[in-house]
Amino acid sequence: MAKIVKIKSMGNAAWYKDKIADSRIQKKLPERDLKLFLKKRTIQARFFVLFLTLSLFLFIYCRTVPPINKSGTTALQTAVVPEENNKSKDPIVHTHYPVPALENLNAIMNLNYPGDQLQGVFWGEHDFNHSVYLTFDDGPNLSEIEQFGTMTTVSESILDALKYHGLQSVFFINGKNLEYSNSHEKDRLKEVLMRMINEGHLIGNHSYHHHNLAQGIFNNGLNDSEEIGREFTLTQTVLDEILGFSYPLVLVRPPYAEPGRTRNLDQWLIQERQYLISLQFDSYDYAYKADGRWNEQGIMNRMSELLDDDKKGGVLLLHELENSALMLPDLLDKVILEKGYEIESMESLLEKKYGRES
Ligand SMILES: [Zn+2]
Repeated sequence: MAKIVKIKSMGNAAWYKDKIADSRIQKKLPERDLKLFLKKRTIQARFFVLFLTLSLFLFIYCRTVPPINKSGTTALQTAVVPEENNKSKDPIVHTHYPVPALENLNAIMNLNYPGDQLQGVFWGEHDFNHSVYLTFDDGPNLSEIEQFGTMTTVSESILDALKYHGLQSVFFINGKNLEYSNSHEKDRLKEVLMRMINEGHLIGNHSYHHHNLAQGIFNNGLNDSEEIGREFTLTQTVLDEILGFSYPLVLVRPPYAEPGRTRNLDQWLIQERQYLISLQFDSYDYAYKADGRWNEQGIMNRMSELLDDDKKGGVLLLHELENSALMLPDLLDKVILEKGYEIESMESLLEKKYGRES
């Protein structure tokens, strides 16, 4: 009986039809799923390819475009990363800086420096062809001052005045002024130093502590060339640390300029192929007293007389001091430029004196 029932049930047409239909449905469903699956996968794949393309683009973009710094300019325009420290003892330095801002430094480093005598600009020189060369000692100075109704700093006020007239200067800095106690102070120092570099000025070395080297302060009253050298190499070290790259300080003015020279210092400078930059005009801006003899008008009058007396020009000593910064616009407008002097860059003077190594 059981067998018959089975045959009967299997022979049932309706059951068979249903079975066929079921099998068709079962065959069709996976096909539909597969298409859906593939469709989904295609969309995902497209998104994945799009994501990969965007990632690749971003990667290439980040590798080729330099980061933007605080002032809104790119690193290629501002940061300078020489491949090596160029303070070589080889008088002919052929390393070229790719950034226009350091062309002036590069020009000096490529000058011919005969190794047997000290090179530079000295007190006794007179032939400057009616040009003035500006120098500011004892900075940088980030003390706040108010000028033209706005708050700024001494260094930045000087930079603003020079930028307004399109002039170049040398800033002879002291290493002790590069000391900082937190990252904000370090950033501010770097910002000002980078402005000096990027606005075409030169940074020179005015020693670390501003001791009078000629008074024999080292080694129990004896001038020791190693100790004297350290006063300058230490400034180089702290400058490079703040900048994040090496900026060779090849221009040196000892504290108190010519009276601060010593034989050991001269020997050290020759050995290091560095230039001593003395002066022809002392502005006496450091002697400024609001109610004393050397008030601003007194300094202006004195500068006016000095420039009248010696029409040959020369290197002018100023300082990164509050009163100097406040006086500078008038000193430029009403005295130096008014008298018809050209204000030229230090590298142009050194190039005239020493010529380029061909
Ligand atoms: Zn000084």
